[in-house]
Amino acid sequence: MTLVRSDEQRKRVFIRTYGCQMNVYDSDRMADVLRPLGYAPAESAAAADLVLLNTCHIREHASEKVYSELGRLRDMKLERRAAGGDLTIAVAGCVAQAEGEEIVRRQPAVDIVVGPQAYHRLPQLLAEAERKAAIRRTGRRLPGAGVLDTEFPAESKFDHLPAPQGVRAGSAFLSIQEGCDKFCTFCVVPYTRGAEYSRPASAVLAEARRLAEAGALEITLLGQNVNAYHGEAAPSSIGGSTWSLARLIRALAEIEGIARIRYTTSHPRDMDDDLIAAHGQVPQLMPYLHLPVQSGSDRILEAMNRRHGRDLFRRIVDRLREVRPDLALSSDFIVGFPGESDADFDDTMRLVSEVGFAAAYSFKYSRRPGTPGSAMSDQLPENVKAARLAALQALLAEQARQFNLSKVGAIVPVLFAEPGRKPGQIVGKTPWLQSVYAGGAVGLIGRIVDARLIDGHANSLAGEIVVQSEAAA
Ligand code: SAM
Ligand code: SF4
Repeated sequence: MTLVRSDEQRKRVFIRTYGCQMNVYDSDRMADVLRPLGYAPAESAAAADLVLLNTCHIREHASEKVYSELGRLRDMKLERRAAGGDLTIAVAGCVAQAEGEEIVRRQPAVDIVVGPQAYHRLPQLLAEAERKAAIRRTGRRLPGAGVLDTEFPAESKFDHLPAPQGVRAGSAFLSIQEGCDKFCTFCVVPYTRGAEYSRPASAVLAEARRLAEAGALEITLLGQNVNAYHGEAAPSSIGGSTWSLARLIRALAEIEGIARIRYTTSHPRDMDDDLIAAHGQVPQLMPYLHLPVQSGSDRILEAMNRRHGRDLFRRIVDRLREVRPDLALSSDFIVGFPGESDADFDDTMRLVSEVGFAAAYSFKYSRRPGTPGSAMSDQLPENVKAARLAALQALLAEQARQFNLSKVGAIVPVLFAEPGRKPGQIVGKTPWLQSVYAGGAVGLIGRIVDARLIDGHANSLAGEIVVQSEAAA
């Protein structure tokens, strides 16, 4: 017998996602876990019975934002209780993993703290939180506030999560790898996400087939260090007990319907020969690569424990451009790492000028508790970091604008993803991940359509949809 709930009876969950695409993927998977428990999505915290913050710990202000939000949610919870209702508050993601009980100590209104490896246990955690809420309603003393699960369980959460639902307008994320063993000295990921783990190739292929059947034209493979992928080989495949990322990409490219493959985030050290070759050989692999370099100074790269210098990075870029001349690059940069001198920063600016990036993320170094970088003595003052960031971002923004302008006049396939802000406008992505705004019917959303690029700006391009017959001419 199927349990049918009316709309009023349904519980509602509002998930707020902070940080990276891994978190976006995880939030979708948590929604998948909660759906069978009767939780439908809510538009806002105010409309929800359960609010789940999927948090990011990568930089200090990212975690502080979580505590401010928790303060607002506590007020909402108190108002609801005064009116005879309630609100369940859950904290997931990397702040949950890194701070655990500290979260409940700082904000006792929090009911559940769940680390990234324990999402499949959300139903049990909710049941336990509900049991505690029921005790509180009777006025009896509580056996400790908050329910906590920040274990790294022996079994993989991937074996316990339901099949993903998440295809949005022809695009889907697919998590293939988690954790990291690199221990860059600035980074909390190895502590919050744990040791490197790759999903078996057969599980990834099965998920990709399901996504393709559900309408995914584009699949973005996700991992904190995605090109370190070394999943158990698919049964009956020849050669080796594990598959590399290149091997996986070649197999994914054979799935009918998948027109675009992307992967993020990679480490320069793991760009092996086969992966570089795949960029020239697999047409579905999009000509855009996010390859974080962090700094252009060998001295700083060493202090960061990046295990590559600027020359290795440049050689990789040259080889990628040899096999795929239209490849666009994006990267991550950190300015103001402890001990970074003016000369080190100039090396970064020089590297940017020499390589040329189509897009980039750049950050001031943020001291993360427990990482070797935070214990280094030569921390830089905020004003130096801010000035360097402004100079770097000006250069990167100009490069991004030039890259967009270089495509004006071209006819390119665009995967349309959503309506634009203006009536009659739709927005999509080029193979180089540029946003394109064009006049077009919403029926084109979720499809790949040729568009002529007619104007370029810093962050987007204007385009016009090319009528099929014109595209063929
Ligand atoms: N695995 C990727 C790599 O190898 O570079 C990076 C993943 S990390 C989640 C995303 C980006 O956050 C990093 O590339 C780095 O630029 C930035 N980041 C990490 N820790 C940081 C810190 N302590 N301060 C500032 N930025 C940081
Ligand atoms: Fe963090 Fe990336 Fe370094 Fe791993 S490789 S420690 S995720 S920056």
